[in-house]
Amino acid sequence: MNDIAANLATIEHRIADAAARAGRSSREVRLLPVSKTKPPEVILAAHAAGYTRFGENKVQEASAKAEALADVADIEWAVIGHLQTNKARDVARFATEFQALDSLRVAKELDKRLHSEGRRLEVLVQVNSSDEDQKFGLPPSEVLAFTRELAAFDALDVRGLMTLALFSDDHARVAACFATMGQVQRELRDADGEGWAELSMGMSGDFELAIEHGATCVRVGQAIFGARLDPNDYWPGIQG
Ligand SMILES: *Cc1c(COP(=O)(O)O)cnc(C)c1O
Repeated sequence: MNDIAANLATIEHRIADAAARAGRSSREVRLLPVSKTKPPEVILAAHAAGYTRFGENKVQEASAKAEALADVADIEWAVIGHLQTNKARDVARFATEFQALDSLRVAKELDKRLHSEGRRLEVLVQVNSSDEDQKFGLPPSEVLAFTRELAAFDALDVRGLMTLALFSDDHARVAACFATMGQVQRELRDADGEGWAELSMGMSGDFELAIEHGATCVRVGQAIFGARLDPNDYWPGIQG
């Protein structure tokens, strides 16, 4: 087994243990390997270990990798970082999932571009659960009104919510972010009935805590792929 396969197996065990502690099934939790800054051959190692969808936070880098790996039939891309309207067209072309929706302008532009590509996109709405100014995402109090507007965009397959918790060693404060997400999800379900099943939260440092608070998708980078690289070192111009 190579390092990446071994790391994936370790994370899978930790996911199963965290789910068991929470009285949940590990099948409720999807592991999204975050391959940002890593070259295609590293992604192929994770693909060989059974993973087909990869998280990337920069559109230019992700679309370059999608092109480089276009021969791999079942590979899919999840864009997990903030999107500027002028990049919506690229995302509409190659992504299967977008986890960072937080503006109607971007929703509208994505929908338009998806219609012209004849594609659909799985979407999560990003929530700023930590109340930090520098974080993207909607304040929890604005999520319900925002999601009301999304029905107009029928190429968007809206599945749930995503957040980045506070980056801190203080477990209680990180847990509070995850608990806020559960509250927002309940508010949406009270208003809409079913749906809003996805809660994407938890990264290398906090995914177990996130699972204990109901995460259905954990986005894990460094714990699988090691320290981040500068992609320009191995692929000049990749970030344009
Ligand atoms: C990079 C990134 C992750 C993964 O972070 P790690 O600490 O490497 O696990 C998760 N979510 C988002 C939005 C990211 O940009």
